[in-house]
Amino acid sequence: TGTMGKVDLKTLISATADTIAAHAEELTTLDQAIGDGDHGLNMKRGFEAVRGEAEAFAAKPLPEALKAIGTKLVMTVGGASGPLFGTLFMALGKEISTEPDQADLATAFGKAIEAVAARGKSHVGQKTMLDVLQPVHDALLQGKTGAEIADAADRAAGATVPMKALRGRASFLGDRSIGHMDAGARSTALLVRAVADTIER
Ligand code: ADP
Ligand code: MG
Ligand code: MG
Repeated sequence: TGTMGKVDLKTLISATADTIAAHAEELTTLDQAIGDGDHGLNMKRGFEAVRGEAEAFAAKPLPEALKAIGTKLVMTVGGASGPLFGTLFMALGKEISTEPDQADLATAFGKAIEAVAARGKSHVGQKTMLDVLQPVHDALLQGKTGAEIADAADRAAGATVPMKALRGRASFLGDRSIGHMDAGARSTALLVRAVADTIER
């Protein structure tokens, strides 16, 4: 596993906020099919709030920055996904070193996923964001490139289509949740590609 170079947090923040803004309608449409149709707006509100304080976050060391971003996401995204994405970033901040290489990131990311699963009382196979986070963790552990990791995330989001939702609002639909992509899986894949593209550059 190689080193990742110096990550510019401000670039990372604007790349993630940009992709969420560009795909907000798509996320809303996905959430309309098997949820309550607010996922695009929830995510956009949260990531724009993070963008609004990018300067202050970027001035902090990476662990503190990630914890502060997670806290901001909990306060602004709302819904089920806010506390879960917030937990992901806060736990990542807790576990990561100041200048991580890919192996460090893989280890910290694994712990962060465990924190999300604990918070959501959920696990892989239930048609949620975890169904993208876990394959991304696997790809990180295998030392895959950013492009490969982003492709794995896209495939994993696509693989939620035939799944039956067992957590979150979509689970209320039972078998009728089958045949639609999970909105949180899609937004996770979008975030992964934005981060991978930024780090790889
Ligand atoms: P809400 O469902 O409260 O309106 P959002 O629409 O913002 O919240 O987010 C829904 C997404 O959150 C789902 O698509 C799913 O990926 C994720 N999610 C919901 N509940 C859980 C859970 N218990 N564990 C993991 N992810 C979950
Ligand atoms: Mg929703
Ligand atoms: Mg909602």
